[in-house]
Amino acid sequence: KKPVIAIDGYSSTGKSSISKVIAQKLGLIHLDTGALYRGVTWFALQNCLNENGSINLNELFSSFDQIELEFKNDNGELILFLNHIDISKAIRTNEVSDNVSLVAKQKEVRDFLLHSQRSLAEKGGIIMDGRDIGTVVLPNADYKFFLTASIDERTKRRYHELISLGIQANEQQVKENLIIRDKIDSEREIAPLKQAEDATVIDNTNLTKQETIDSILSYIKK
Ligand code: C5P
Repeated sequence: KKPVIAIDGYSSTGKSSISKVIAQKLGLIHLDTGALYRGVTWFALQNCLNENGSINLNELFSSFDQIELEFKNDNGELILFLNHIDISKAIRTNEVSDNVSLVAKQKEVRDFLLHSQRSLAEKGGIIMDGRDIGTVVLPNADYKFFLTASIDERTKRRYHELISLGIQANEQQVKENLIIRDKIDSEREIAPLKQAEDATVIDNTNLTKQETIDSILSYIKK
C-alpha cells in the first residue's frame, strides 16, 4: 500500500514545491492544503466584506453552502477549483496572504475544510502539506516531517516565488507577512502550527531544494 505522508512547517520552507517532487518520485498525489485556506479567503474577499473592507466572518460562515470545492488531478498534483473556477493564481496575491491567517484561525473554517482533506487520504498514496497535517488532519500518517528555515532565507524564497509569478513584491513586506502569519498560525487555539511529537524535523536554511528532498526520501522505506 502506498504511504500517507504529512509535511508541516513554517511559511515558505518549500513544503509545497518539495512535496510535489516527492509525489512524482513516489507515484503519490499531492495536496497543498494552504490553497484551501487561501481559497476560502479569496471567496471572503469577493463576497463577505464589511463596509470598511475587512472580512465579515459571520457572513463567511453562513456562506459555506455557496462554496463548492473540487480537486482536479493534474499528473498527481491536485488543483483546487472553487465554484468551478481555477483559483491557483488568484490565491497567491498579497491581499489573500494578508488575510489568510485570520480566516484560518476560525474554528468554523477549519471544520468546514477538515472533511475534504481527510477523505482524500482514505485510500493512501498521498502527500499533504500544511500546518496541522501531522497533528490534526492525518495523525496516523505513515511519515511526518516538519520543515523550518531562518526568516531571512524564507523571505528570499517567497520574494522570488512572487516575482516569478508576476506578482509585485517588496522584501520587507514579504518578511513582515511571514512573521505575522507564523505568529497567528502558531498562537491560535485550534490546530496551531507545531510539530507533531513523532515528526522528523528538517531545518533547510542551508539545504538546497534537492538536498531537502533527498533527506526526506532517505526516511521513506522503499
Ligand atoms: O501554505 P500557505 O503559506 O499557502 O498557507 C497559507 C495559510 O493558510 C497559512 O499561513 C495558515 O494560516 C493557513 N493554513 C493552515 N493550515 C494548513 C495550511 C495552511 O492554517 N494546514
